[in-house]
Amino acid sequence: MRVLVYGSGQLAQMMYLAAAPLGVIVSAVDVVTETVVNPISKKATGVPLHRAIEESNAITVEFEHVPEHLLLDADKSGKLYPNVASILAGADRVREKALLVKNNIPNCEYLLIDHVDQLDDVVERLGEKVIFKASRDGYDGYGQWRISSASDLVNVRKDFALLDLKKVPVIAEKMMQFDREISLVGARSQDGQIACFSLAENLHHEGQLHVSVAPITQLTEALQKKAKDIFETLATAMDYVGVLAVELFQCGEELYVNEIAPRVHNSGHWTQQGCSTSQFEQHIRAVLNLPLGSTELIGTSAMVNIIGCTAFSRDLIGIPDVHLHWYGKEVRKKRKMGHINVVAKSHASLGKKLKQLIEFLPVEYFPKLESEATRLE
Ligand code: ATP
Ligand code: MG
Ligand code: MG
Repeated sequence: MRVLVYGSGQLAQMMYLAAAPLGVIVSAVDVVTETVVNPISKKATGVPLHRAIEESNAITVEFEHVPEHLLLDADKSGKLYPNVASILAGADRVREKALLVKNNIPNCEYLLIDHVDQLDDVVERLGEKVIFKASRDGYDGYGQWRISSASDLVNVRKDFALLDLKKVPVIAEKMMQFDREISLVGARSQDGQIACFSLAENLHHEGQLHVSVAPITQLTEALQKKAKDIFETLATAMDYVGVLAVELFQCGEELYVNEIAPRVHNSGHWTQQGCSTSQFEQHIRAVLNLPLGSTELIGTSAMVNIIGCTAFSRDLIGIPDVHLHWYGKEVRKKRKMGHINVVAKSHASLGKKLKQLIEFLPVEYFPKLESEATRLE
């Protein structure tokens, strides 16, 4: 069987690796050149895109920002999962907010800004601490502006004057005082079966994910259920097929959806070693209409992103249950180069293992690791 993935980055690469044991061949589409490439070498396969579409049993995406004409073209085959509307809901914050509101899902209070003059009301309506997010093409905190007082609006106003807000509005969100960021990654099959992974706890730095720990500390059945209910409501409303990630802010016992990602997600990478079935295999299963796999935990996991860094000792894989996933990309500042999965028997032993791991890593690239290891220990 064949799966065609739009996007040719590390997520397509990891889908390829997870699909291989099932006898499923994954090809990728470079969405800039619109050519079919091998997800590992990134070299063109020579197969024209229309033929790759014909030959595929299922078509999917590794990221939500696929040009719309490509999605619509792929959708004509009747084999695109998740559906176009779901992908667009993840790609456009205006649609995303509408989806959340329509389904009564708690989310951050917001205003839609499609004219600079609307900035006048922002502080009065949302308070002084506001985060502005371009409605399209943002990721890893790019396309965002933060203010902590009304006077900061001057800079935002200047930047917004250069944008076409009618075409691409901005969402102004109240800055939440959350206790922590968590996420639920799960899958929905074509017949509506749902399988969610354990909640993961996510540490961000400058708008970018650095470390995930799963399951979260102080996990309660009630919290996992609350997150699963949100997932189920959204996935069912969208008639979603495949892996879907829901990013959440936890405030006490309450959960607010920050955003959704209609794809496999960085905060689900821990499932590669930490779960019976990885999110990548699960996604392949779902889009091919195969039975979903078990999401049972193998241990307590941490996923550490390697961001903009190549200078570390590969000897870190000598620590038991420490696994390196390297994407083979050219290094750039703030670019995700790979990740490290660590599995342990408990949060305390995970903390100890992370302490061992730190010895192999240049600390300036892993600003959150030391305190996280200490917290878990
Ligand atoms: P991703 O790479 O996850 O797609 P993104 O660029 O789409 O990132 P968001 O997830 O919306 O951006 O925001 C990035 C981070 O900024 C969040 O993980 C959170 O730490 C912080 N953040 C975003 N919105 C809010 C908010 N309303 N209140 C407080 N913090 C926020
Ligand atoms: Mg996002
Ligand atoms: Mg996010």
